[in-house]
Amino acid sequence: MSTFQAPKGTFDLIPPDSAVYLAVREAMSAGARRAGYGYVETPAFESTALFKRGVGESSDIVTKEMYTFTTRGDVSLTLRPEGTASVVRAVLQHNLDKGALPVKLCYSGSYYRYEQPQKGRYRHFSQVGAEALGVEDPLLDVELITLAVDAFKDLGLRQVRLLLNTLGDKECRPVYRAALQEFLRGLDLDEATRARIEINPLRVLDDKRPEVQAQLADAPALPDFLCDACKAYHEEVRTLLSIGGVAFEDDPKLVRGLDYYTRTTFEFVHDGLGAQSAIGGGGRYDGLSEELGGPPLPSVGWALGVDRTVLALEAEGVADVAPDTRRVQVFAVPMGEAARHLLFGLVLDLRRAGVDADFAFGGKGLKGAMKAADRSGARYALVAGERDLAADVVQLKDLVSGEQIPVALDEIIPTIKEKLS
Ligand code: AMP
Repeated sequence: MSTFQAPKGTFDLIPPDSAVYLAVREAMSAGARRAGYGYVETPAFESTALFKRGVGESSDIVTKEMYTFTTRGDVSLTLRPEGTASVVRAVLQHNLDKGALPVKLCYSGSYYRYEQPQKGRYRHFSQVGAEALGVEDPLLDVELITLAVDAFKDLGLRQVRLLLNTLGDKECRPVYRAALQEFLRGLDLDEATRARIEINPLRVLDDKRPEVQAQLADAPALPDFLCDACKAYHEEVRTLLSIGGVAFEDDPKLVRGLDYYTRTTFEFVHDGLGAQSAIGGGGRYDGLSEELGGPPLPSVGWALGVDRTVLALEAEGVADVAPDTRRVQVFAVPMGEAARHLLFGLVLDLRRAGVDADFAFGGKGLKGAMKAADRSGARYALVAGERDLAADVVQLKDLVSGEQIPVALDEIIPTIKEKLS
């Protein structure tokens, strides 16, 4: 072991587990791609002001969790704590909002939050996201929700619950906010929470402490304050989800940690994960573009947590999500220098012919090389020594049955392809 370790709250992805992460990312984005979402990639860091404006000054992310640094050029940059603000910034910067709408985009990458690390909560984590920008249509909200639901299903997860809420819009939310503040000011709360009442009272509803939750039973509920337009929108989302066969639970206390959400908000939770149960979430953010200095651009999106989804797969005991990419079909074992050249050439040709093949590198003895062949998971070994070369053959050994037959050099690739088919 070296003196260096991955920093606190981070971890390395190494085989074989890394294959599961790749498979999860692929499953999460495959459906979006098929639904017309184009791939977008933005920088890992952005101007700090983008997140302050975009994610919200009062959010936990901005107040406590950002990795912010000043460059040599005296510019304040921040490692991205989430994806949506960057995507909206990119859409506006490249005038994608002036073209056909909605702009549908998906992405996959690393995100950074200075959090207290625990199981399922890391400082460097991985999300797959999808956003549909520029159109206000409940069908889009439901398209996105369904894509996520189906991705979790395709991965084999059975215990994912969808929590659904609406946060209203700029008409009705302020009225609710005022009523909630009035109610919260009358409770017995600590100083930090009292301060939160004044900055972002909806976040108090999200407080996980039982002594706080106990006092919130009679809190005014947002559904009672919704304006007619928001009510109708939300009803339509609920109806469409039912038509799509998507089960959901109404959760009027679901507020989410980011300030930009309006109307539809949702979260995917998994009960096998303990405290960090959210494996994904999203919603509408109709005001975000304007917040960033752009035109009105009503939009909806989600981000799914790759790390927690992997934990959920473990919790449900779902195996075989990913093939072990280290397994090959054929493993070459040379005996002698001439055989090394010949078999190495054969391995390259096998790969070009679409067969997964590996080689006993490093001049191992026969015993060590055969052990490596077994470990490789290969069905067949190609073994050759001086005598085989003289006869223009290679020994093809079936590593399951132990049977070994000489095969003429120019027959090797077709023979192996046929045996593997
Ligand atoms: P959020 O942007 O906070 O809504 O996060 C979306 C999803 O990303 C969550 O549902 C989690 O699955 C995942 N996530 C957020 N923060 C972390 C973290 N610190 N560590 C691991 N996963 C996270």
